[in-house]
Amino acid sequence: MEHFDFIDYHKQIRSLLRPYLADYNRSGRLGVAMDQLLDRVEEDLKHCLTDEDHCRLACQAGCGSCCRVNVTVLHPEAVNIAHYLRETRSSAQLQALKRQMQRFCVMIEGLDDEERIAVRQNCVFLDDGGSCSIYPVRPLLCRSITSTSAADCREAMAMQVFGESRPVLMNLMQKNLMNVAFQGLASAMEDTGLSAHGQELTAAVLRALSESSGVS
Ligand code: SF4
Repeated sequence: MEHFDFIDYHKQIRSLLRPYLADYNRSGRLGVAMDQLLDRVEEDLKHCLTDEDHCRLACQAGCGSCCRVNVTVLHPEAVNIAHYLRETRSSAQLQALKRQMQRFCVMIEGLDDEERIAVRQNCVFLDDGGSCSIYPVRPLLCRSITSTSAADCREAMAMQVFGESRPVLMNLMQKNLMNVAFQGLASAMEDTGLSAHGQELTAAVLRALSESSGVS
């Protein structure tokens, strides 16, 4: 793609979400907002990536080597993930997951990005097969990360533990698109009087699970 107007894209996402977030407390509105947002960004991404881009991407189910980093989410993302977990997990599974999340939050609380990688703990949502168990509703910032070499990712993560950074070639179009969508969501939240404070993924979802659904 020759040129993509990210400033305009930010405006579009902001305008798309503002009416739903203005009505945040009305049943179902938040779920509609997140459905609209995630459908929109995935559709736009399809049009932005060329066949060559797709061929170069090394990311696939079963890898998950990047799922050991701090991930920041906005409140609507956390609420949407909590809703997905309620819909897809049994009560016993959900209770077990919440206990796992509580332990995880204690383990990673206050860690900066380098320290988080150094503890070598996978995200609680990474399943035993190395796939994201909340894939349809995964955070925008997870969607922003790609790689053209799984080996480079593994090496970069390993070397980060020793304080050395190694470059990983990623698709900048995808990174920028998802980052701008995140900013568009934040701006729409601010427009409607909501706090657009970013939160750590696990703690935010745990809090959202203790609240009433807010999605449906
Ligand atoms: S939410 Fe999914 S994609 Fe994001 S870090 Fe966790 S397992 Fe990986």
